[in-house]
Amino acid sequence: MSEAKPRVFSGIQPSGEPHIGNYLGAIKNWVPLQDKYECFFCIVDLHAITQAFEPAELPGNVFDVAIVLMAAGLDPQKCTIFLQSDVPEHCELAWVFTTVTPLGELERMTQFKDKASRQDSLLAGLLNYPVLQAADILLYHASLVPVGEDQVQHIELTREIARKWNARYGEYFPEPEALVSRVRRVMGLDGQAKMSKSLGNTVGLLESPQETWEKIRVALTDPARVRRTDAGNPNVCNIFSLHRYFSSQAELAWADEGCRTAGIGCIDCKRRLTDNMIAELGPIRERALQLRRQPDQVYEVLAAGASRCREIAAQTMAEVRERMGLAGVVTPAQTKVE
Ligand code: SF4
Repeated sequence: MSEAKPRVFSGIQPSGEPHIGNYLGAIKNWVPLQDKYECFFCIVDLHAITQAFEPAELPGNVFDVAIVLMAAGLDPQKCTIFLQSDVPEHCELAWVFTTVTPLGELERMTQFKDKASRQDSLLAGLLNYPVLQAADILLYHASLVPVGEDQVQHIELTREIARKWNARYGEYFPEPEALVSRVRRVMGLDGQAKMSKSLGNTVGLLESPQETWEKIRVALTDPARVRRTDAGNPNVCNIFSLHRYFSSQAELAWADEGCRTAGIGCIDCKRRLTDNMIAELGPIRERALQLRRQPDQVYEVLAAGASRCREIAAQTMAEVRERMGLAGVVTPAQTKVE
């Protein structure tokens, strides 16, 4: 009998059209995992609502993320793609976990402190975000979680939550490991902060080649390189950082040398980067636009994913309720209104 593959869980927020930061930091790394592990990729809409959002736009954002995931190479025959709110047990387990999670641990999360510092009125959902994340992962007994460096602290908290729950109610949940992406955080085109839709410094994966070029053309470079004849320093230039993801070693050497000697202008450098980005991302965009014309196919994938996840989630919650004495006193049949 062949051994079961370890389970992988990861999530992506539907907070607007996915951008190259999402692609490089997450989606691109997920594609090879589906051949090695039993993978669950979740569109985490319940996480997205912890930040400002527009209800009317959320379904469209979910759809855009789904088509990008599939277009980038996630194959529904090899992995499970689903929408978080289609599986209500995520919320139920999150509530259960709040009862074993120390408040102080949540308050010291770097991401919470960072986001909280940018909000006037602090809501509990933001504080409890990592608890829901722990529920997302442990509901499926995932043992590996691909994340960026900024999420490692949340995975450590997930391990602690698993330990605390297990200590109280008996060994049941695994302590998952973070699979940390080798891609360091992808900076936005303003070169000031992580690429993020809310900061308006992104290149969207569904943008046309012309739109991509228009954004790259005006993106920040080495601020000290004011004139074409000034030599630049590629190490402080975000355009050069993006070259590292999309360009060959020979082109990196070309940009490095040309920048330091003023042999090339920033426009030459940006044009080459844009061409390479379009070469890699163009086929993904084409497939995504094709899927956009076949919404039924996309919703079928999400429905099948949700159905599989609900089955697993129901088993997990039955065990959790049993161990916690939450077995209930009313059967579903008794709750029917006559
Ligand atoms: S030549 Fe390229 S690496 Fe150098 S400052 Fe301009 S855009 Fe940046």
